[in-house]
Amino acid sequence: MEEVSVYIHIPYCKSKCGYCDFNSYPGREDEYEGYVEALLRELKQRGRQISGAAVPSIFFGGGTPSILGAELLSLVLSRCKEVFTLDPRAEISIEANPETLSPSLLRDLLDAGFNRLSVGIQSFDDSSLQRLGRNHSGTQAVDAARQAAGAGFENISLDLMFGVPGQEIPQWEEDVEKALSLHPTHVSAYGLKVEEKTPFDRLLKMGLITLPDEETFTRMYTVAVEKLNGAGYEHYEIANFALPGYRCLHNVNYWRNGPYLGLGAGAHSYLKGERSANVRDPAEYLARVAEESQAVDSREKLPSRSALGEALMLGLRLTEGIDVEEYGARYGADLRLEYGPVIRDLSQQGLLEMEGTRLKLTWKGILLSDEVFLKLL
Ligand code: SF4
Repeated sequence: MEEVSVYIHIPYCKSKCGYCDFNSYPGREDEYEGYVEALLRELKQRGRQISGAAVPSIFFGGGTPSILGAELLSLVLSRCKEVFTLDPRAEISIEANPETLSPSLLRDLLDAGFNRLSVGIQSFDDSSLQRLGRNHSGTQAVDAARQAAGAGFENISLDLMFGVPGQEIPQWEEDVEKALSLHPTHVSAYGLKVEEKTPFDRLLKMGLITLPDEETFTRMYTVAVEKLNGAGYEHYEIANFALPGYRCLHNVNYWRNGPYLGLGAGAHSYLKGERSANVRDPAEYLARVAEESQAVDSREKLPSRSALGEALMLGLRLTEGIDVEEYGARYGADLRLEYGPVIRDLSQQGLLEMEGTRLKLTWKGILLSDEVFLKLL
């Protein structure tokens, strides 16, 4: 039976962080109920597209999904259970920010069927949190992780961020150590990237913030890898680390270029080789779903070379790399022929290596992954 993952986007947050370019909007509380009604309708309509498939994972991402509260989230998850053929061991993740969590909400989420919690901590240092524009303190971050474990969540992921303006290496080391002391099953460690048109972009251009230099940035990443590896976490993707058996199945499917159905404002889908995206703005999404029970705004079937290039870029994010023979068969192309010169060139520069039939990034390639991916476009 084919397997298709499901992504559900909740585009609301308490406020907007200075670095954020995600599809998320603060202060639209009066839209929440209508948004959930629209999601239920879209679920029913578009769920038919994957009626013959098994669903191994559902991921509620955002925004801040936990902001909706247990009642609305349970409604959406119950509709998922009605509409999809859910694997009994399915991974059902929800992203949450510390300030939205409470012991009762956590228990309700577990009762509803969520079994993986991803907490957006970013830092335990109050001054870094303030500079990032986050709504929680370091103490709230610790409490959130402890409360989640206390409520019975066994699979907890913590998101951390390095390369924050003003952050120094010792303080980042403390963040990683503090995260480890909370015994999560999974840690994501992202380097801050300043995206265009965000407040951070303007502040940076005006010289009002400065980022750690490249050497410090690389050192921070290296420190995280060393500390997490040392504590038994497998470095399985450029920014992701898991205890054995706790890789995020939903994201692994995405990096392996597997199929997924995305529901909600701005959500992307990849089904039968076609990429599609819903309208981004939640108000427009509501209007479209009210009229048509779905809100797909664009569709694209990639030509085979681009599809292969995209699959390569995604697959190489995994530290185990990709099996060139499997990918060749999947995309009807000989990878060594199609990409031979590029792969040879990148291998000579020490950025890629072959291990049997697997092609993977070297450590240098991981550090310079953006440059490697540009060459594969
Ligand atoms: S909480 Fe996350 S999605 Fe919301 S504004 Fe901050 S970074 Fe963006």
